[in-house]
Amino acid sequence: MQIDGFDAYPIEMPLHDKDWTFALATVSSARGWCVRVRAGDVFGYGYAPAVPHMGSTFEGLPIEIARFRPFVVGHDAHDIEALLKRLDRTLLGAHQAKAAIDCAIHDLIARSNGQPLFQLLGGRMRSSVPVLRILAIKTPAEMADKAAELFAEGYRYFKIKVHGDIDDDVERVRTIRKRLGREAHLTIDANQSYRAKDAIQAINKMAEFGLDLVEQPVPRNDVEGLKLVTRSTTVTIEADEGAGTLDEIARLVGERVVDAVSLKVPKLGGLRNALAAARICESGGVRCRVGAHVGTRLLNAHALHLACALPELDYACELGEFARMDGDPFEGIEVVNGSVTLPDGPGAGVVLRPGSFNS
Ligand SMILES: [Mg+2]
Repeated sequence: MQIDGFDAYPIEMPLHDKDWTFALATVSSARGWCVRVRAGDVFGYGYAPAVPHMGSTFEGLPIEIARFRPFVVGHDAHDIEALLKRLDRTLLGAHQAKAAIDCAIHDLIARSNGQPLFQLLGGRMRSSVPVLRILAIKTPAEMADKAAELFAEGYRYFKIKVHGDIDDDVERVRTIRKRLGREAHLTIDANQSYRAKDAIQAINKMAEFGLDLVEQPVPRNDVEGLKLVTRSTTVTIEADEGAGTLDEIARLVGERVVDAVSLKVPKLGGLRNALAAARICESGGVRCRVGAHVGTRLLNAHALHLACALPELDYACELGEFARMDGDPFEGIEVVNGSVTLPDGPGAGVVLRPGSFNS
C-alpha cells in the first residue's frame, strides 16, 4: 500500500486556564502539528505536540516533518520498520515528529484494514483505563478546589504538580488529601525540580498523607540522584523526562534506578518504540503506565489504544487532559466517570470534525 499523500496542519487548542503552570513553564494553549498520510482514498492521522522539553517546538516541527516527507511518500506503509529507520538515519532526535508519522501510518494501515488500532499493537488486554488528572501549580487551597471539582466529576487519580520547595509542596499534598479524603489516589510530579536529598526529605513528609507515586523528582540526567531517591523512600519513584529514549530506559531498568517509567508516544518517537519500552520495563520488573499526552483527542486515542494493548499496565493513565481545552478538530473519545474507553471504529477511532483542515 503505497503512501501517496503527506500533509501537516497546525492545531492550537486554548486552555480554559490561561495560567497553567508546572515546574518548567507556564502555558495558555496546547499547540502542535497533525500529520496526515494518504493511500488512495484512505487517510491516516498522527499528532506531534510542541513540547520544548521533549526536544521540539511549534516552530521547528513543520521543518522536521518536511525533512521526513521524501522518506515516507512513495514507500509501502506496511514496511514500518524500514520507514522509521530511514527517519532515524536522516535526523537524530525529533521524536515528536517521528511519532506523528509512526502514528499516522499505523492509523492508515488499521483504517485500510477496517480494524481498530489496538489489533496492530498485540490485541486487546483491556477496554478502558482509569484517567489521572493533573493539577497545575497554584496555592494549596486553589489546587484543592480544582481537585474537589474533578473528584465530583468522577476522577479518583490526581497528579499534583510541585516545584521543588519542600514546605510549599508538602502543604499542597496535605491540603489536597484533607479535601479529598482517603478515596483519592495522589501522585506528584516535580518535573526535575528537586535535588536528590531535598526530594527524599519532601517525599518522606508527603508519604504521611498517602502518596502512590512520585514522578521525575530530580534532573533528567541525574541518574545516581534518582537511584538514591528510589532507595531512600517507600513511595514508587517514576522516571519521565529521564526516560526519553530506549537506551535511557534500558539503563534505568538494568540498574533498577526507578520503580516505574512513564511511557509517552511522542517522547519515545512512536508506538513501536513505546511497545519496546514497555517490554524492557516488563523484563526488569519495573512498572510502566501511559503518561500525559497533552493536546488533541487524536493523540490521546493513539495512546489509549497502546494502553489497552500493553500486557502490563500498572496504574491510571493521563489520557484526559483534552478536557481542559477548546478547539479540538478531532472527536470520538471522552472521559466518563473518571475512565476513558476504547472507541469503536477503524484506526484510532477518532474522526475529524467537518470543516477541519478544509477536509
Ligand atoms: Mg512528567
